[in-house]
Amino acid sequence: PSSEEQAILEAHQWLTKLYHHLLRHTKDGKQALAYLHDRGFSDEVINLFQIGFSPLSRDFVAQFLEKKGFHKQVMVNAGLLTTNGNGEYFDRFQGRVIFPIRNPIGKTIGFGGRTITDQEPKYLNSPESSLFRKSNLLYNFDIARSEIRKKGEAILFEGYADVIAAHQAGVLNGVASLGTSLTETHASLLRRYVDTVLVCYDADNAGLSATYKAIKLLKKVGCTIKVAALPYKYDPDQFIQEFGEVKFRTQVIEVANTEMSFIMKFLKKDFNLNLEGDRLHYVEKVIEEIALLHSSVERDYYLRELADEFKLSYDALTQELMSQMRNVQ
Ligand code: ATP
Ligand code: MN
Ligand code: MN
Ligand code: MN
Repeated sequence: PSSEEQAILEAHQWLTKLYHHLLRHTKDGKQALAYLHDRGFSDEVINLFQIGFSPLSRDFVAQFLEKKGFHKQVMVNAGLLTTNGNGEYFDRFQGRVIFPIRNPIGKTIGFGGRTITDQEPKYLNSPESSLFRKSNLLYNFDIARSEIRKKGEAILFEGYADVIAAHQAGVLNGVASLGTSLTETHASLLRRYVDTVLVCYDADNAGLSATYKAIKLLKKVGCTIKVAALPYKYDPDQFIQEFGEVKFRTQVIEVANTEMSFIMKFLKKDFNLNLEGDRLHYVEKVIEEIALLHSSVERDYYLRELADEFKLSYDALTQELMSQMRNVQ
């Protein structure tokens, strides 16, 4: 790394410690700490994930970094400070709960800052830089790696809060793509470690669409995919808060759906299945998806399910599948 990158890395480690200290041990951090406790985060995970607080000040961090001898313009490049161009420098994160984002060897390379007073945006994240590339970074990969290896399975969440809540619930193999949608780089990274990825995104409309896209990408790199079964509109963190850790493990994670049963449910949203025309369209759509399955046993299984559900002839569906598969080849 260049000396500028070295300095940026060093500044991030200092700020991780500073933000965490301010949260844990100062009056300024009290409200944020209460907020985290209210959300159910234990002191143990607050420490493990080095969660912190950026004080509500225009230049607290700017002054701290200056005292440590960092060049302010470099810190602007790093996304830690902003400037108005008149030689004045301001803190990027002001009055936010800070989630340090670590690289695969556990060094902080960016921050996610959550408002505790309903400000917009809800999350303010570090900007992209040569050190901090969201498209090839998975949150918590450093801590989750050994459990991911051991289980042969990784769980993919949407947000920091979900990863941390899951960890607290004893689910230790969780990672998150950082608000950006999953990329092929993310998928390949996971594929190097596991066969199976369990997608556990938010069960709202955005999350369900993102799940469908993630399935396609993960399949492309050869993963076996499972999809968590959260009730509509819940995210993993909310589920844990409301129903507890045991139910999260036994009723969400351990009973995850197959990719195909997710897809069959997901595609229904585009159709009014009371209409004959829509029903037939839907059936064709599902057959297209079934044609992409690699195992003939699976193809047969879902084809029968489809035939049963819509009281259609299994032989007719088989013929449709055959012609779809010829199209695919
Ligand atoms: P919380 O439980 O604290 O409300 P969440 O994880 O449920 O957070 P979501 O709204 O589901 O938050 O978003 C998931 C992830 O997307 C966040 O962890 C964050 O990385 C990213 N994100 C959300 N909102 C924004 C935003 N306005 N700008 C940038 N990234 C965001
Ligand atoms: Mn969401
Ligand atoms: Mn969410
Ligand atoms: Mn949430």
